[in-house]
Amino acid sequence: MIRKTRLFTPGPTPLLPAAQFAMAAADIHHRTPEFRSLYTRVLAQLKEFVGTKNDVIILSSSGSGAMEASVSNLTSPGDRVLVLTAGKFGERWTGITKAFGCHVDVVDAPYGSTFTLDQVKAALKLETRAVFVQATESSTGVRHDIEGIAKLLKSENSEALLIVDAITGLGTTHLDMDAWGVDVFIGGSQKAVMMPPGLSYLAVSQRAWDRMEATYNPRYYFDLRKERKNAAKGESAYTPAVALIAALGASLEYITGQGGGDLTVGRTNLVNNAETCAAMTRAAAEAMGFRLFAPKGYEAAAATAILPPEGTDSGVIVKGLKSKFAAIVTDGQGEMKGSLFRIAHIGYFDYMDTIAIIGALEQVAIAAKLPLPNLTFGTGLVAAQKFFAEHAK
Ligand SMILES: *Cc1c(COP(=O)(O)O)cnc(C)c1O
Repeated sequence: MIRKTRLFTPGPTPLLPAAQFAMAAADIHHRTPEFRSLYTRVLAQLKEFVGTKNDVIILSSSGSGAMEASVSNLTSPGDRVLVLTAGKFGERWTGITKAFGCHVDVVDAPYGSTFTLDQVKAALKLETRAVFVQATESSTGVRHDIEGIAKLLKSENSEALLIVDAITGLGTTHLDMDAWGVDVFIGGSQKAVMMPPGLSYLAVSQRAWDRMEATYNPRYYFDLRKERKNAAKGESAYTPAVALIAALGASLEYITGQGGGDLTVGRTNLVNNAETCAAMTRAAAEAMGFRLFAPKGYEAAAATAILPPEGTDSGVIVKGLKSKFAAIVTDGQGEMKGSLFRIAHIGYFDYMDTIAIIGALEQVAIAAKLPLPNLTFGTGLVAAQKFFAEHAK
């Protein structure tokens, strides 16, 4: 049979055709009224997509650039900060904050789990200036309790800013920046907004803008205050990634269309879509006898991390899906390689994609004679079909 390449990875994610067309057509100069009107519209729509009244800044970088910008703009050398980590992306926060000379406290939960609010409370100091965390840890498929952490910081009267890598949280998780009092939400283009890598964005609270007046870690290209000043005029400080901004505009239009002309509704529908695809996948995997990596109730809708049967390398499944069906799923990152595989639901995935990957997983698992208790054709598909019939919104 012919093989159609399909990404089932939590970034890059499958591309929206309209975003690709918009990129190809974007030969405009960035100091023109044409660009200014595009940029102004995209920035306004991004606020709605994030679900905040706060200003949103776009940077020409992958997601980690915005993570670094949040550290360089919001901390000073010697600042005490708290990193909450349970995976590879959490560890990136530790790396960046250390690189910028922060005194870093770490709550380090095992991979495949999350930390308790009691652990966070115990690690929070009077001097803690900022807390860094992921909304969803893409390396393990675990969702962290951002609302709970935000409430905890409030109830402790903490001065700490809450800075959240929501790079796979946005568009997959119901998040409420303003109501919860989150100070920074970070997003990336190759995730829920269905376009290529190269843009990151940050929503920044007034409290965080105020903090920037006093912090003095070095920053130049990623100077958020400079970008904010320019954004108010519909421009960016340096040459922006014009084609990617055009693509982002097209994606946000698509999401608006999925909400019947209302971007807020479209965003909610996109989150519900990811949740449905994720729940179908979990139901299928468990029916086939696989175990899930994330604890019950803390599964990220961005991606499902599935454990192979004891004694089997997850590479068998990753390679089987690729060679037989050209379906790209991700193995575990770093030391998790071989011990899990991840199927993504973030962005441009639908019912059809989900059914297809579950069917393909059955094929690969049965061909490899994986030692799973309920491994026959249809077991996973039936569970997914039932979930969809009973729950899909
Ligand atoms: C993809 C991702 C990032 C950003 O990685 P880049 O490669 O810099 O885009 C950061 N955090 C999480 C949770 C991610 O999934």
